[in-house]
Amino acid sequence: MILILKNGVSDEQIDRVIARVEGWGLQTHLSRGTYRTIIGLIGDESQVSQETLSSLPGVSQVIPVLPPYKLASREAHPESSVIDVSGVKIGGGQLGMIAGPCSVEDRDRMMRIAESVCESGANLFRGGAYKPRTSPYAFQGLGEKGLEILREVGDRFGIPVVTEITDPRNVELVAQYADMLQIGARNMQNFVLLTEVGKSSRPVLLKRGMSATIADLLMSAEYILSEGNPNVVLCERGIKSFDPSTRNLFDVAAVPVVQGLTHLPMIVDPSHATGRPDLIPPCALAGLAAGADGVHIEVHDCPEEAKSDGPQALLPEQYKQILQQMRLMADLLGKTISPLAGTAGKPDHSPKNNPQPPTEALA
Ligand code: PEP
Ligand code: MN
Repeated sequence: MILILKNGVSDEQIDRVIARVEGWGLQTHLSRGTYRTIIGLIGDESQVSQETLSSLPGVSQVIPVLPPYKLASREAHPESSVIDVSGVKIGGGQLGMIAGPCSVEDRDRMMRIAESVCESGANLFRGGAYKPRTSPYAFQGLGEKGLEILREVGDRFGIPVVTEITDPRNVELVAQYADMLQIGARNMQNFVLLTEVGKSSRPVLLKRGMSATIADLLMSAEYILSEGNPNVVLCERGIKSFDPSTRNLFDVAAVPVVQGLTHLPMIVDPSHATGRPDLIPPCALAGLAAGADGVHIEVHDCPEEAKSDGPQALLPEQYKQILQQMRLMADLLGKTISPLAGTAGKPDHSPKNNPQPPTEALA
């Protein structure tokens, strides 16, 4: 870090700042200019905060030289990370195509939707079993029953499944069923939840909070990485805006900005970003053109019956069309849609915990 001292700072104050800083085990480099005096700090700064340094008498400004998200930063790890979700790769030129309904619904419907998106070429299937809803009276998700259905669908089609986790107490439970844990926009700064998923080895899909800056998003990723889980994929899903024309504001520039700052992959979610089926295809393509490592789209075979987010769902045939276009875009960019490994990596259920999903025949 660099300390910029106040105008007219006395020699005595400078000496006191230096003594303090050196007392924390750091070395200092003093540079006196005509108008400004600055002190460079050298050494392990992890024990001293920017706030503490700002409060030293005589210090006007503290400028960090390295980003505070040390593990997430590209400086720490220049190569782009590739995250492996049960055989499906996201990052480094391989695209993750996540599709499925907002909520996990009944088994037959989930099978139908999964069959169609798999045929179209999606490589990750989604569905929320725990839904964070604005209203306590709205559908809250099927809970563990929903996880069982999702797992069964994943195994049936050999596609890894991703589902949202909302409660830190459920990490082990959800990780038994899902290949990837989603942290939704509303929980991006739920630090207890971030810490708990950081202790898991399951890949995490971390969505940007609706009012979060890019630095906030990267600091949230840092919570997960610093607990030992390196498998984090970021997601731009739109931020709050003053204009009600779209559900959120799709911040497409966030993709290359984030990718410049971090080695972690970044995908886009044009469904929640726009809330409008007509805008999902152009924004999906724009996201890929901007460099996104994948696209997350909600698909439902009967949006008017959907338990949540029906108005923004694409129909299976619309998804098929946009996936064809996204494949062309991927070719143009020299990227590939990561193929399915054949069978989804089945989470390591212990025999005791291994839920036996219903096995009735497909409808
Ligand atoms: C979702 O994926 O269904 C969801 C609730 O997304 P977000 O957290 O981005 O609103
Ligand atoms: Mn949704």
